Amino acid sequence: MTLLSNPIPHRPRVFLPGDVPAGVHKDIHAYRPTWLASRPTIKPRVIVVHTNGGSGEGSYDGAINWSNGGDSRTHAHYNLNAPTPSKSMSTALRSIANSTASSIEQEYGLPDSSFWSISIETADRGYKNGGGVDLGDFLYDHDELLARIIAYESIVWDIPIVVPERFGDPGVVTHTEPWPYPYFTTVSGKTCPGTTKKDRVLRGDILPRARQIRAAWLGEPPTEGEEDMPKYVNRRNSDTRKFGPVKSGTYKFAISPQYAPATAQMAVMTFTAKGQGHIAVRRIGDEQANTAVVNTSGGWENGSQMVALRSEPMAWGDVDAAHFEVVVENSGAQPMDFVVDVQGYWG
Ligand SMILES: [Zn+2]
Repeated sequence: MTLLSNPIPHRPRVFLPGDVPAGVHKDIHAYRPTWLASRPTIKPRVIVVHTNGGSGEGSYDGAINWSNGGDSRTHAHYNLNAPTPSKSMSTALRSIANSTASSIEQEYGLPDSSFWSISIETADRGYKNGGGVDLGDFLYDHDELLARIIAYESIVWDIPIVVPERFGDPGVVTHTEPWPYPYFTTVSGKTCPGTTKKDRVLRGDILPRARQIRAAWLGEPPTEGEEDMPKYVNRRNSDTRKFGPVKSGTYKFAISPQYAPATAQMAVMTFTAKGQGHIAVRRIGDEQANTAVVNTSGGWENGSQMVALRSEPMAWGDVDAAHFEVVVENSGAQPMDFVVDVQGYWG
């Protein structure tokens, strides 16, 4: 039995740095407010899997209390501990869980890995509790939750679910494999997350399961192929909606009926946003609709995503097929402004 025979979990309503997939608790203000306020924003491209490595199995509250005991202690984005495996902070903020030696930073011309990674701490039985050098497998259903998290964050940040071939390239890694000290750790001799978890993440069923979930959530075939790529059939249609200034919340808008031609199933939406935060867009009433995300961190920035208009070709003037909701996570002090521009359609 592998995770691949599990049912597909419910598709999340939105994909955002501060939100979660089914089974993972949303606790993004777990860490002390003064510490959280000091963290810079990041755009992660690598997911790093860790193990607790304590003397025994730790609880979720225990993990948070320990982190909050010192500003330089480990503060992971996710803490998969019983009884409430959780997302403990937004993945748009820099966590503390892995770091890179300055010699490696210079060799690769990269900043510390904490500026471009998502950290996931996972529970183990502990080195004094039969764990030994290899701290063993994931506990409870945390392997399934890990796969869901990888699928979820891969959609939020457009991260490929692969083991990267070169240090710094996007993908999924463990704390000390494929790259040992001093790439993702400055502690010589570290073996986190242990041989069993490394095998399952890098060579086992975790990444295939994450790819399976991602494909189901996006309504895509699980295999990749150039021949299936859709092409533009109509670039004339466009419509623009301006929003703002807005704070966090959910807003609704509709594309004008004349911009919803027959046969259109997908649209390219371009977002121009100002402020600090994240915006997700989805079509109302379609659970299979793609979510589009744009991440901004200051001035006007552009982002674009392909979003589903509907699963079946729609008729001219089918207004219901062109209603969208915009979910805004405003992480800055000022309200955000943004523009959604529907540029074209695929047939
Ligand atoms: Zn680690």
